[in-house]
Amino acid sequence: MPGASLQRACRLLVAVCALHLGVTLVYYLVGRDLSRLPQLEVWEQASKPGSETYSTVLLPPEGPEIWRRARRFLPLFLWIVYSTVGPMLIEFNIPVDLKLVEEQNPKVKVGGRYTPKDCISPHKVAIIIPFRNRQEHLKYWLYYLHPILQRQQLDYGIYVINQAGESMFNRAKLLNVGFKEALKDYEYNCFVFSDVDLIPMNDRNTYRCFSQPRHISVAMDKFGFSLPYVQYFGGVSALSKQQFLTINGFPNNYWGWGGEDDDIFNRFDRIAHTKETMLSDGLNTLTYLVLDVQRFPLYTEITVDIGTPS
Ligand code: BGC
Repeated sequence: MPGASLQRACRLLVAVCALHLGVTLVYYLVGRDLSRLPQLEVWEQASKPGSETYSTVLLPPEGPEIWRRARRFLPLFLWIVYSTVGPMLIEFNIPVDLKLVEEQNPKVKVGGRYTPKDCISPHKVAIIIPFRNRQEHLKYWLYYLHPILQRQQLDYGIYVINQAGESMFNRAKLLNVGFKEALKDYEYNCFVFSDVDLIPMNDRNTYRCFSQPRHISVAMDKFGFSLPYVQYFGGVSALSKQQFLTINGFPNNYWGWGGEDDDIFNRFDRIAHTKETMLSDGLNTLTYLVLDVQRFPLYTEITVDIGTPS
């Protein structure tokens, strides 16, 4: 009978709706509790100079017993699992509107600065992007990276170092400029140098520094999710302030495409023998002229005249 089957269909629909409501409620309650974890300042990660180990510091307990227990036993990785999402789908087929990105990231302050509210991050990271005429790439970068960096609980700032003029591009020199200029703003202790067209596909790939310089873009799609050669250090890399100073920054004399990242790599393994070029070309010989500094809502753009090849 059509009436009976309609009734059955209605019952089924009601059951499905009730189930959906129940599941949503459970997720909401769990989610609400979990979202309190950062506010409880479950951990504070502190790097010990010169060692690979990181300590997890638990803050004095407060609040209900269940949270006291959670704070004591929740390991760091679990906390990170909750605040990050893991693998992400990265697409470039939808146009990015920076006004919307701004609205989606209300906690990002002018100039592209963010400081976590719920913990004191030991990672004060300046992200330096060498740049010229890549506005479209930059939009995607900002769209994807701001939420990721916030989930990673970094105290960060975004610096786009824009090379003025039409002469040959000099990626490494722009990175040196970024290092110097960012330090005028804040006491950054970590520098992530990133090409404007590279987006991480997993937000657990943290944009922070370690006890050794770190290559972050270790599997790139354009290289078949591998590296072109083992010494490859291009794309995205992270160096602490001290590591950067120790190698006298990056070379200033690589004009045009290629080579500068290989030079940077060699500064590490030959550090004990202090390679000659390293001492005579780097931060200590850097000259440039800042033409303009613009604090946009999602990033700071510094336009510089870095000269021409001699
Ligand atoms: C260049 C590097 C570049 C790499 C991968 C090398 O030949 O010297 O600068 O990153 O190729 O494209």
